[in-house]
Amino acid sequence: MTQYRIPFNVPTCLGQELAYVSDSLANGHISGDGEYSERCQAFLEERLAIPKALLTTSCTHALEMAALLLDIKPGDEVIVPSFTFVSSVNAFALRGAKPVFADIRPDTLNLDERKLPDLITERTRAIVLVHYAGVACEMDAIMKIARERNVAVVEDNAHGLFARYKGRYLGTFGELATLSFHETKNFTCGEGGALLITDPGLIERAEIIREKGTNRSRFFRGQVDKYTWVDLGSSYLPSDMLAAFLLAQFEQAAAIQARREDIWRRYQRGLSAWAASNNVALPTVPAYVDQAYHLYFMLLPSLKARAALIQHLKDWGILSVFHYQPLHLSTMGQRYGGKPGDCPVTEDLADRLLRLPFFYALSPADQDEVIAALQAFEEWQ
Ligand SMILES: *Cc1c(COP(=O)(O)O)cnc(C)c1O
Repeated sequence: MTQYRIPFNVPTCLGQELAYVSDSLANGHISGDGEYSERCQAFLEERLAIPKALLTTSCTHALEMAALLLDIKPGDEVIVPSFTFVSSVNAFALRGAKPVFADIRPDTLNLDERKLPDLITERTRAIVLVHYAGVACEMDAIMKIARERNVAVVEDNAHGLFARYKGRYLGTFGELATLSFHETKNFTCGEGGALLITDPGLIERAEIIREKGTNRSRFFRGQVDKYTWVDLGSSYLPSDMLAAFLLAQFEQAAAIQARREDIWRRYQRGLSAWAASNNVALPTVPAYVDQAYHLYFMLLPSLKARAALIQHLKDWGILSVFHYQPLHLSTMGQRYGGKPGDCPVTEDLADRLLRLPFFYALSPADQDEVIAALQAFEEWQ
């Protein structure tokens, strides 16, 4: 493996993580739904002002819970951006739904709400959207059409915890939203996630689905005298040791977000003149959006320039990466009928996007080195 002087991501402990993990062990409760899980959930419920947050083993699993909760069945259609992580679609495909891939906006790279009227059919059950880079989708337009056509909205908010659209937190618009606490996200416990529920009518069944299809949560609250198999479900609870780690990160939320904002702004400031003179597009954030500062990306003039720039940065000891390959052109996407030309903006931008190192402990000196390395790049053709 190549050693990079400046890696792409480094997970960081910010305070009490390991002390809380030890404490969970000392408490004698390290399986799911212990004290630390409760405290993480209460933190999310209070901060976001939502009726229920449930910790899960991953964002992928929270999305699978959303598909189960919405009773997604074979024959149903689910609209999802082609430009996203595979879990946004896989969770619904697992229930038998047909994914309908939507193109993205060229400015924010979010699902293009203007495409929705043509994509919604009698069979559409849900719109799954992603707030890419923690910058909000056009929620007014999306919620309006979803309500008019009676389609559920699921926000895959893996990037956007504590970001806002016109003052309102992301993850509180749709019936359901999901979070990720994977190592690469703003807040982490290695692997983890959460399901956010805004519709109180879905809470009890969500608890059942998360507890292997049993009414065990009601049993623990003393609402039934034994627990039994009552619905479909699986095991989606993380260990309380992971919740302990996560709570320590939540307690540092202000510091984490402030540091990430500094990093984002340093790139934006340091690269703006260079980008303008080299036909490179930097991120666009609408004025009514408070973003989550999850990642920093650039759009290069061509696929060839991207490949050359990745190699150039590698020669400087800097790891840069790209993501998402258009889902509609993937092996599975083609099986659902995806073909070239279906999502032209996604197809174009996916070839040109590059992400720069971005993590809490990235020092200003290392960041300046990344900027200097970019400014020294010459092989544009
Ligand atoms: C990271 C990510 C996921 C998956 O998160 P896990 O917690 O690893 O399952 C899903 N959707 C998006 C948009 C992501 O960035």
